[in-house]
Amino acid sequence: MQTIAFIGLGHMGGPMALNLLKAGFSLQVFDLMPASLAAAQAAGARVTASAMEAVQGADIVITMLPASQHVESLYLGDGALLGAVPAGALLIDCSTIATQTAQRVAKAAEARGLEMIDAPVSGGTAGAAAGTLTFIVGGSATALERARPVLEKMGRNIFHAGEHGAGQTAKICNNMLLAIHMIGTAEALNLGVSLGLDPKVLSDIIQKSSGRNWSTEVYNPWPGVMDGVPASRGYEGGFGADLMLKDLGLAMEAALQGKAATPLGAAARSLYHLHSLAGQGGLDFSSILNLLQKH
Ligand code: NAD
Repeated sequence: MQTIAFIGLGHMGGPMALNLLKAGFSLQVFDLMPASLAAAQAAGARVTASAMEAVQGADIVITMLPASQHVESLYLGDGALLGAVPAGALLIDCSTIATQTAQRVAKAAEARGLEMIDAPVSGGTAGAAAGTLTFIVGGSATALERARPVLEKMGRNIFHAGEHGAGQTAKICNNMLLAIHMIGTAEALNLGVSLGLDPKVLSDIIQKSSGRNWSTEVYNPWPGVMDGVPASRGYEGGFGADLMLKDLGLAMEAALQGKAATPLGAAARSLYHLHSLAGQGGLDFSSILNLLQKH
């Protein structure tokens, strides 16, 4: 069985690593937060003291980090990890980062003779735990085929979007739409409740009507309407609003480059920015509902 180095055991990386352990892979893990290492260790992973140590002897290196700067500094910065990765290992970065950063890191890996793919994910923490994520891959078809047996243990759908960085481009298009429909869902529910409707009844109606979307199906933003979602546990866990703000920033930069009109994406970015400035950036992104309500 292959040895996998898994770096970044946060809300997503933690449960993804657990699924690889369940599938029988040998895991060497590292995260900056000691608390994040404990669950992986209890499930049988070998905890290491640094990313450098985690990649020793690894056949595959998976990273699941917050943003571009973390990925770039880990692979290319001081004490660059690329120099420590064993020859022939495959690199899989699952973080959502800028297309250009993904391309830059993949190019540097290639210069060292290492294959790399960008493989950002969709499906949230529930998808990560259930092993039903969607992987959106950029890179060569041969590298994707090498990665497939591992990705299949963490996800259900695997798409090849194109060359290096294409996975990131597709992912930020998806997340811009996710932000827009989450804000729209929160806005519609807030309107209905302000006019006297029950949020659960209104959610059931939308769910069977033309306003139905992923937020109403599996991620309702109104507290108490749906069990097991961040809204029903004080917006803890899930997908941080500041991470969504980061993705919307990436989408707006990409829109400038592509000269694409993204008026709703720009509005969504402004709303998440205000939400973050109001001190809510650490909460799940469905907490955008709070921005619309009287306090
Ligand atoms: P998170 O903040 O919970 O986890 C990131 C982890 O990386 C943290 O545990 C942090 O300690 C660790 N880390 C940072 N720098 C490190 C370094 N140099 N070495 C080792 N560990 C380091 O974030 P998350 O919610 O797990 O998201 C990770 C990525 O996945 C982000 O790019 C996010 O946009 C994307 N994403 C998140 C979700 C979601 O629902 N949470 C869904 C899809 C995609």
